[in-house]
Amino acid sequence: MLNLVLFGPPGAGKGTQSEKLISKYNLVHISTGDLFRAHIKNQTDLGKQVSQMIAEGNLVPDSITIAMLEEEIKKNPEAKGFIFDGFPRTVAQAEALDQFLVDNNSAISGVIALDVNEEELTQRIAKRQEISGRADDAADKLKKRIEEYFGKTIHVLPYYEAQNKLSKVNGIGDIDTIFSELSQVIDSYIA
Ligand code: ADP
Repeated sequence: MLNLVLFGPPGAGKGTQSEKLISKYNLVHISTGDLFRAHIKNQTDLGKQVSQMIAEGNLVPDSITIAMLEEEIKKNPEAKGFIFDGFPRTVAQAEALDQFLVDNNSAISGVIALDVNEEELTQRIAKRQEISGRADDAADKLKKRIEEYFGKTIHVLPYYEAQNKLSKVNGIGDIDTIFSELSQVIDSYIA
């Protein structure tokens, strides 16, 4: 199985690149952000539970997020592999994912971090908000999300570095150039 984690701060381009990668490598895309937004839209119990936290830019508690992710993996027993986008966002999530994969005779193939500076992120998200209208893209909520990223999520990097699974790719530039750099890294996992 080819199991990839696409890692990076809000606005790094994880969603855009995931879309291209799933068709090239025939993988299933699991974006915890998209899953939460679908729950909120459909007004499920889970959606009601998390909508406020997400609107404020806070992370959803690990227990809820991990359960939702595992459920989603189980829905795809035929998958050749997964791209995890927006997960793991804490070390506890990374550990839970490793354990879950081990229990299913699988593992993370590699983690690719998209490198984008804070100034570029802020600009991209301001632009995105005009289109998406996502409440958590508003400037004050975005600030909170960036804080969550640098406070909690960034610690996931040394966790994977210690396992020799981390690669970095420059996330600034045109979409196709970034895509081809990502593809090169992924091809090295397959070779
Ligand atoms: P971004 O645009 O910041 O990459 P996402 O669409 O991945 O955002 O996620 C939106 C929001 O959903 C996050 O700010 C957070 O509240 C919640 N969320 C998504 N994934 C996770 C996760 N793995 N752990 C906790 N909360 C999460």
